[in-house]
Amino acid sequence: MQSKRVAIIGAGPGGFYAALELLKHFSGQIDIIDKLPTPFGLVRYGIAPDNQRMKTVSKVFSGLIDEFSNLRFIGNVDFGVDLNRDDLLRHYDSIIYATGAAGRQYLRVPGEGLEGSFSAMDFVDWYNGHPLRRISDFSLRFSKAAVVGGGNVALDVVRMLINEMDVVRSTDVPDSILRELERNAVREVYLLVRKGPAQARFTPVELRGLGHLKNVDIIIDPEDLRLTDDEADYVNNNQQCRLNMNILKSIAERPKAGYEKKIHIKFWHSVASIGGKESVEWLDLCRNNVLRHGSSKPDSDEGRCRISVDAIFSAIGNVVSMVPGVPFDAQKSIVPNINGRIIDDDGVVLPKEFVTGWAKRGPSGTVGTNRQDSAETVAALLKSWKTSDDDCVAAPAKADIIDVLRERNINFTSWSDWINIDSQELAAGHEQNRPRVKFQDLDDMMGCLS
Ligand SMILES: Cc1cc2nc3c(=O)[nH]c(=O)nc-3n(C[C@H](O)[C@H](O)[C@H](O)COP(=O)(O)OP(=O)(O)OC[C@H]3O[C@@H](n4cnc5c(N)ncnc54)[C@H](O)[C@@H]3O)c2cc1C
Repeated sequence: MQSKRVAIIGAGPGGFYAALELLKHFSGQIDIIDKLPTPFGLVRYGIAPDNQRMKTVSKVFSGLIDEFSNLRFIGNVDFGVDLNRDDLLRHYDSIIYATGAAGRQYLRVPGEGLEGSFSAMDFVDWYNGHPLRRISDFSLRFSKAAVVGGGNVALDVVRMLINEMDVVRSTDVPDSILRELERNAVREVYLLVRKGPAQARFTPVELRGLGHLKNVDIIIDPEDLRLTDDEADYVNNNQQCRLNMNILKSIAERPKAGYEKKIHIKFWHSVASIGGKESVEWLDLCRNNVLRHGSSKPDSDEGRCRISVDAIFSAIGNVVSMVPGVPFDAQKSIVPNINGRIIDDDGVVLPKEFVTGWAKRGPSGTVGTNRQDSAETVAALLKSWKTSDDDCVAAPAKADIIDVLRERNINFTSWSDWINIDSQELAAGHEQNRPRVKFQDLDDMMGCLS
């Protein structure tokens, strides 16, 4: 007999916060398994490089592995390829899926297939040096771009397109990407937001960050900031919206310095179509008639306009991809669950399987939101043990998953491999007076371990 084992699939905030909660109550083996050789999910590969302060949350997660010997990181193991659900059910007593939401959402408008039309997440993957989703020929040798979206990812992309090179040079982007960013010719960015300032999902910190960009004029039509009585009531009762409105008003009102670099924030605008011969040359926009109809659908030719741009980045949200072999609610685009307990198509609770983070609730909230989410999931897991036949500590011996990975010749990484990668990146960063220089290439990253 031995103590129970828990597998957590996905080493992002959802997975690590689940481990943190479990460790408060449980001294058995906890394995965090990720398909990347490195931990931390979107903290490493989503949060913008110019937001290094936010990335320091990874220190909290590292501290857990340093402190608790029963918590292991097992990287470079693709669930659904290297290990499947049956393997996990055989080797663990409970499984928590924390696989995030890496799927793309598309605008679905004519012209989206033109060259120069990108998912913002492809750009995010590129500038963060994601080793599994690399677009090698990303180039920013154009002058005008549009970013579509009303959330923080859209703001990240705008910043990364137009930020001062001094700022970009002080980040952790891989060297080859930094070289490409040095050639960045973008001078004008349109931020197109489908709804109005009262509905936008920006957080005030990020919006303020946009306002603080140096040598950029930000242009907002003051008309767009006019609120209906209902919206004004809503804004007055919602601190985030109130702060956002104040920031937007102060940006709109401040005198323009005539900088070459400009950001135009256009609320109430949707892209009707993307035009151009072979690549993006213009966007036809329509003004949404939300105020009159309470709907955000573009509904008439009234207020249509054309803007000329060379590229468009759609930052309209991610979607949860199916976790291989695990139930999926295609309508809600999440792993179906009740407070973190996975249910099948008939609504029956799966006894050993749980979900947390973006895979559980969809792609919303900040890193911190996943903490509460994971606490709820772990509470459900612990309850499942109390109500099941066997108790919390005693379970029949199960083989270690490491032996299975070795048998299958899977080149998995351990926490000490990550420490090795981390220290080489930090050392490369130290040489260039940067926080770190990330490996971009998977072979280089794995090669540095041999
Ligand atoms: C571009 C962007 C910028 C953001 N910036 C901020 C910010 O500045 N501040 C903030 O608070 N929040 C930010 N967020 C939100 C924050 O990143 C999320 O709330 C958080 O990462 C969600 O955690 P998660 O663990 O559910 O998913 P993820 O962080 O995506 O982690 C999922 C993990 O699962 C792994 N995985 C997936 N499939 C498999 C598989 N088959 N086998 C094994 N492993 C698998 C992935 O490799 C990944 O490591 C940002 C999000 C994005 C997209």
